[in-house]
Amino acid sequence: GNSPADIFLTVDAARLAKAHELSVFAPVASKILESRIPAHLRTDDWFAFSTRARIIVYSKAAIKPGEAQTYDDLANPRLKGKVCVRSGSHPYNLSLMASIIAHEGEAKAETWARGMVANFARAPKGGDTDQIKAVAAGECGVALTNSYYVARLMRSTKPEDVKVMEKVGIVWPNQATTGTHINVSGGGMLKTAPHKEAAVKFLEYLASDDAQRYFADGNNEWPVVDSVKVNNPALEALGKFKADNLPIAKLAMYQVKAQMIFDRAGFK
Ligand code: FE
Repeated sequence: GNSPADIFLTVDAARLAKAHELSVFAPVASKILESRIPAHLRTDDWFAFSTRARIIVYSKAAIKPGEAQTYDDLANPRLKGKVCVRSGSHPYNLSLMASIIAHEGEAKAETWARGMVANFARAPKGGDTDQIKAVAAGECGVALTNSYYVARLMRSTKPEDVKVMEKVGIVWPNQATTGTHINVSGGGMLKTAPHKEAAVKFLEYLASDDAQRYFADGNNEWPVVDSVKVNNPALEALGKFKADNLPIAKLAMYQVKAQMIFDRAGFK
C-alpha cells in the first residue's frame, strides 16, 4: 500500500499469478497491448513480454537424442540414474508441472513426477546452468533447463563454456504432441500506482519493437510480438520449434497442485 512503484515486472507465470492473487495489479485495457500480445500470453491485469522454453539438454557421449524427445521420456526407466534437474519447489519446475497437469490430469502428472525422481542421477541442486554443466561433465545424461541459459552459454566466448556446449545436444520436447512448455517474463500496473497513465504507456512501450528487441538480444528470450525481428545469433542457431500455447493463466491455476504432487513424489 505504501509502494511508490507504478509497475511490477518479474519472471515466471507462477510469480505473476501470485501477484494477481494478492490483488496488487489493476486491470489494464489497452488496444495496443491487446493487438500486439497474443491472447494466450496475457490476462486482464498482467502481460507477458517475452517467452522462454523449458528444454532438454543431453550428453552427446552418453545418450542418443531419440531417448529423450519428450518430458515423459525423462521419467522412462530407460533413463534411470541419468536425470538432473533443479529443485521441484522452483517456479520453473512448478510451471512445467502445472502444464502437465493441465494437459494430462493429476494422476498422470504424479506418475511422471515419481518416474523423474526414480531416474535422478543426484538429488536436485543448483540452478539450470549447473545442470547443463553437470551433463557436460558426465555426472548426468540429461537435464532440464530454460532456453536462455543455453543461449547464454552458446554466446559465451569463455573456453570452458565453449567446451560445455561442444559436449551437449539440445532437444525441443514434445514436438509431436503438445509442444515445448514455455514460460514468460511479464508484468502489470499496480493498483496503487501513483502515475497510472504513464504506467500504461510504459507497458505499451514494453510491447514496442524496440523494447521487444531488448528481451531478445539482451536476455536471449523470444519476443511475444511475432513481427519483431531480432538480432541474436544464439536464438537464430536454436531455430524454430512448436511451443505449447496453453494460456498462461492455466499455469497459474495449478501451482498449488503442482507443489503437492512434487511433495508426494519426493521431488524436493
Ligand atoms: Fe532464470
